[in-house]
Amino acid sequence: MEIKKDVGLKHSRTIEANRYRNFPMVPRVIFGRGSFDQLGEILMPKRRHSEAPFIFLVDDVFEGTSFIDRIPLIFNDQVVFVSAEEEPKTVQVDALVGRIKTEFNELPSGIVGIGGGTLLDLAKAVAICLTNKGSSCDYQGWDLVIKPSVYHVGIPTISGTGAEVSRTTVLLGPEKKLGINSDHTTFDQVVLDPDLTMGVSKEQWFYTGMDCFIHCIESLNGTYLNAFSQSYGEKALELCKEVYLGELSPSDSREKLMMASWHGGMSIAYSQVGVAHALSYGLSYLLGVKHGIGNCMVFRHLEEFYPEGVALFNQMIQKQKVHLPTGICSELADCDYETMISISLGMEPLWENALGKDWRKIATREKLRSIYGKI
Ligand code: NAD
Ligand code: ZN
Repeated sequence: MEIKKDVGLKHSRTIEANRYRNFPMVPRVIFGRGSFDQLGEILMPKRRHSEAPFIFLVDDVFEGTSFIDRIPLIFNDQVVFVSAEEEPKTVQVDALVGRIKTEFNELPSGIVGIGGGTLLDLAKAVAICLTNKGSSCDYQGWDLVIKPSVYHVGIPTISGTGAEVSRTTVLLGPEKKLGINSDHTTFDQVVLDPDLTMGVSKEQWFYTGMDCFIHCIESLNGTYLNAFSQSYGEKALELCKEVYLGELSPSDSREKLMMASWHGGMSIAYSQVGVAHALSYGLSYLLGVKHGIGNCMVFRHLEEFYPEGVALFNQMIQKQKVHLPTGICSELADCDYETMISISLGMEPLWENALGKDWRKIATREKLRSIYGKI
């Protein structure tokens, strides 16, 4: 629908109602090596009183390490260690919310997520469900969250997903794997301390970093692209090339990948991901393959859609000497393929972004079957 609007300038402009989306951004971010040590002073003004604690959801890879001593605990603050072995589930979010509500008489002052995309997504979802009734699966979808969430802080310890900047939290529910996409999902504060990513293994560094690289390729080659997402996507792509094809020092590399993740996340906020993510969702749903490695396993077979991106990816994998598993779909039954294909084709906005309005003519079930068969 078109409406005429007098904007009070010399000329009135014609704008299309609801054409432009109005996104929330992370209002506060601190960046720098060692910036984690400022967390205590960042949280202090947000402490309501001594009975309203901060709950720190921390990747259990840090359990028993000296890093835990740097978490600024006071009063009845609590650290909860969570495994990132599996991607976050709605039942897990509901259990954490139940535990916090039972243990404390009132809402916490805030939730702090420390870890990779898994922990960041859990922290966002818990913050939402502390103030919104029912199960987290009730909010999977777009703009279903009604009340503002509890103050929440994201502290990434591995770079690539862009979860630190996005307005979604991807959860596996009883019926679907889908994000809670809402204005209340975005973090209130993010702490970007590149030194926290020091202990990440080479393989995981590559898989999660490639998530960022693939975000850039899918955003920059998508039909939803605009100048906003292009500017962030180009910067993130440039940084990924420096990190994975250049000769940076380890500390420069950590800093640049952290900024690439941020920019990649900003790029897809105003566009969308594409074919690799759509196919990777099918793999993840059926086989539990994790996001980063799943995207890599799919992306290498997408020359037809992203020829330049796949060529770059091959250069990166060669330079970094990372091996990807192969043949994971070779033993699957026809009905398994059908499940993955249906899940993937259900990601309509991703396909439309990648291939345009007539995407169904290109993304046929046969085409998807042949790609999955190669993985
Ligand atoms: P992750 O959180 O799953 O962690 C991967 C592995 O790295 C885990 O074993 C973890 O323990 C380990 N790890 C993390 N930090 C470490 C450190 N400093 N030292 C040693 N080991 C460390 O990894 P990820 O790839 O960042 O996140 C994947 C998740 O992110 C998926 O659940 C995916 O759905 C989600 N995701 C969310 C968004 C979003 O916008 N919300 C976007 C993309 C992906
Ligand atoms: Zn991704």
